[in-house]
Amino acid sequence: MRIGILGCGQLARMMALAGWPMGLQFSFLADPGDTGDCVRGLGDLVDYPSDAESLDLPALAARVYESLSRPDVITVEKESVPVPLLEALKAHCNVYPDPKAVRICQNRGCEKAFIEGIGAAMAPKIVVTTLAELQAAVAELDFPVIVKTCEDGYDGLNQWKLNAPADLDAFIAGRDSIAESVVEKRVKFSRELSLLLVRTADGRTAAYPATQNAHEGGILRSSFAPAQHIDAALSAQIDELKSQVLGNMDYVGVLAIECFVVDGQLLVNELAPRVHNSGHWTQQGAATSQFENHLRAITGLPLGSTAVHGFAGMVNLLGVEMDAQRALAPNAFFHTYNKSVRPNRKVGHINLVHDDAGVLQTQLETTLAEIYS
Ligand code: AMP
Repeated sequence: MRIGILGCGQLARMMALAGWPMGLQFSFLADPGDTGDCVRGLGDLVDYPSDAESLDLPALAARVYESLSRPDVITVEKESVPVPLLEALKAHCNVYPDPKAVRICQNRGCEKAFIEGIGAAMAPKIVVTTLAELQAAVAELDFPVIVKTCEDGYDGLNQWKLNAPADLDAFIAGRDSIAESVVEKRVKFSRELSLLLVRTADGRTAAYPATQNAHEGGILRSSFAPAQHIDAALSAQIDELKSQVLGNMDYVGVLAIECFVVDGQLLVNELAPRVHNSGHWTQQGAATSQFENHLRAITGLPLGSTAVHGFAGMVNLLGVEMDAQRALAPNAFFHTYNKSVRPNRKVGHINLVHDDAGVLQTQLETTLAEIYS
């Protein structure tokens, strides 16, 4: 069976690495300028058609489908994919997750409207399209706020923290217009959690235990799972959120939900229609990794157990050179993405496993300090 992946970064790489032992074959659609280094040797790398603009959508979809060697299923490794193309590819093969789910997650405004629509809680927010609307939104929400563009924003990119009137003045002084953006109240969270769910086309579901995450400058630095100290009230909110999301999205594959906990209340930050950085620990920490379970879901196989043995941690390698010799302890597992190092670029991660939560937490902190201080 062949899987076509739109995108050829580290998530595509890790999907392919999980799929090879299952006998799956892979083709990757590269965006213009993508080197394909992450997936080199793992399948066919296909360039986005250079004459795409001269083709109508059905012809473009047919061309892409053929160049991907007629995959049985097409999936995505990022949300910034052309949704109309994804929709048109459905004429040729299964496309999971459904393009409508990708579209919701692609635009923060749509995503927040979806989250609101299913009755889940989130930080107060206002969508703006002009600088005057921005000023009005900040006046209504009050400082501190975060401005996030609705599209093309990830890992802290295209986000601005405005803490005081002077920040707003400086932000406005530097521009004469603003892309559609969400102005969001900056919340004082006690912790950040993510939930990883997986669902098959015939409605079978599984979930990994909640993961606790730490970000620096908007980029994930480390994860710990299962998240500790989840009391009954929080656990009930997590269960409700899972069913609210899955009950309202015709979703197939792995889906991540990023959340804040504020005064014991679970607030949704964002959704990711794909395997997720905060689930990398599942490669060693769970019976079945998120990558394998995504593949099982989209190919109609039985889902693998999401059971966790002991505790797992993950440290992202962000713009830092590291080799296995330096990274590995007996309970540590090194993953490199075959990328060149640039500041803050995700070039790999280290997974740690241990059956004692305290020992693992200490090792996670030591590893972070060794890498980043
Ligand atoms: P995002 O790109 O929305 O995932 O944001 C990246 C990170 O920025 C989050 O994981 C948080 O650490 C921080 N952040 C984003 N939005 C908020 C918010 N409304 N309040 C506080 N911190 C936030």
